[in-house]
Amino acid sequence: MKIEIEQSHSLGARWIHTMLAPPLENHWINITDGQVDSISSRPAHTVTEHLGEHGMVLPAAINAHAHLELSQLNVPLDVPNRSITDWVSALLAFRRSADYDAVQGIQRALRRPELLESTVAVADIVPILNESREQPDQAGGPAKLSSLKYLPFVELIAWQKEIAEKLNYGVEQAGVPALYCLSAGVPAQLFGLSPHAPHTVCPTLLDRAVKQNVPLAMHLAETLEELQLLQHHTGPLLDMMRRADADYEPMSVLIGKRPMDYLQLLSAAPKAFIIHGNYLDDEELRFLAKHRDTMSVVYCPRSHAYFRHTPYPLKKMLDYGVRILLGTDSLASVPNLSLAEEMQFAVERHPTVSPDVIYRLGTIEGAAVFNLVSEGLGTIQAGSPARLLTKMLLPWRLKMINLQR
Ligand SMILES: [Zn+2]
Repeated sequence: MKIEIEQSHSLGARWIHTMLAPPLENHWINITDGQVDSISSRPAHTVTEHLGEHGMVLPAAINAHAHLELSQLNVPLDVPNRSITDWVSALLAFRRSADYDAVQGIQRALRRPELLESTVAVADIVPILNESREQPDQAGGPAKLSSLKYLPFVELIAWQKEIAEKLNYGVEQAGVPALYCLSAGVPAQLFGLSPHAPHTVCPTLLDRAVKQNVPLAMHLAETLEELQLLQHHTGPLLDMMRRADADYEPMSVLIGKRPMDYLQLLSAAPKAFIIHGNYLDDEELRFLAKHRDTMSVVYCPRSHAYFRHTPYPLKKMLDYGVRILLGTDSLASVPNLSLAEEMQFAVERHPTVSPDVIYRLGTIEGAAVFNLVSEGLGTIQAGSPARLLTKMLLPWRLKMINLQR
C-alpha cells in the first residue's frame, strides 16, 4: 500500500514503534513534506488517517547484508539438498554466463519495489569491476533515490599470496561502487571492504584489508564444511577449492583452526560485520559480545532457512549480548529483497524472542552501527523521512507506506 500525500498529514495507530522509547499507544505521527515533524497524542494536522485498533507503525528497515549484483536471477538457485558446494558451483556458473552483469544486477535491484518499499539503507557486497567494464550504463536509471542509503563494501577474493599482493583494492577503489549506484540514481560512496571468507582469503589479503582501517564484512562460521576445512583441512569445501585451483593449499590459505582466529584479526578494524555466523561457539559469542561496540553479526533469516542449517541460535546470541543485524543476502537464496519479510520470517522462526526485539534488529540496531540514527533512519523522530512500515496485528503483515513526495 503506497499512500501519496502532498500536504501535512497525521497518521495514527494503536502502536507506534519509534525505536527510541517503548512503543507509544494510540499516538499520531505528524508529517509535513515527506518528513516526520512530531509525534503526539492528538493529531497535529487536519488531514488524518488512522490504521485502527490493530494498526502498528515501524520505521523502514536497514538491510545489513546483500549481494545486489546477483539480482538478474529471478528465483533462488535450485540445487539438490541445498548443498553449499553445489550452490557455490551453480552461482559461479551463473556468474560466468551471459545473463550475469554485476552493474545491471545492482541497478535492477535498486528498482525492485519490495526493496524500495521496505528499506531505507542497504549494505551491499560489490565485486571489483574488471578492466573491460569501467563505465556502467548511465542511461535508464530511475529518478534520484535520495531516500535510499547505499553502503557498498568491495568484495576481496584471493587465496594466493601473489594475487593478494597485486590486487588493487582499498580506498583507492572508492569510485567503483559509487559509480555503480550513481548510475542507478543512488548517491553513494565506498563504505568498507569485504574479505570474502576464510577459504577464499589468504593471510596477506586479510592483513592488507585490516590495515586499510575501514569497516570490514566477512562471511564467517557460515557452514559446517567451513569449520571442517579450518579444523581438519579436509572435506567438500577443500574438494571444491581444489577443483577451482589444483594448487589450493589449506596450510598457506587458512589462518588458524577456528573462526575465533579470524574474529581476533577482524576486531582490529574500526567496524566488523560477521556475515551469518551460523556456527560460532560459545567462546566466540562471548568475544563478540565483549566487542559489540565495533563488531556485529548479520543474520539473514530466509537465506539461513534456504540452506537448511541447524536452527539459528538467535536467542542465545542475544542473551550473550552479541549485536545482531538483519540482512536479506542475495536473490540466489531468497525469493525477494524485502527486509520486512525477513523480520516477519524471523518473528515466526523465533517465538522465544520478542517481536519488538526483532524489529529493533532490522531498524535501529543497523542504523546505530551504520551511523544513520542522526539522519532519522531506523527510527521515527522529528526529521525522519516519512518512510514507514505498517503492520496489522491481525492478520500478520508488514507493508510499507511511503509518505514522501
Ligand atoms: Zn553473503
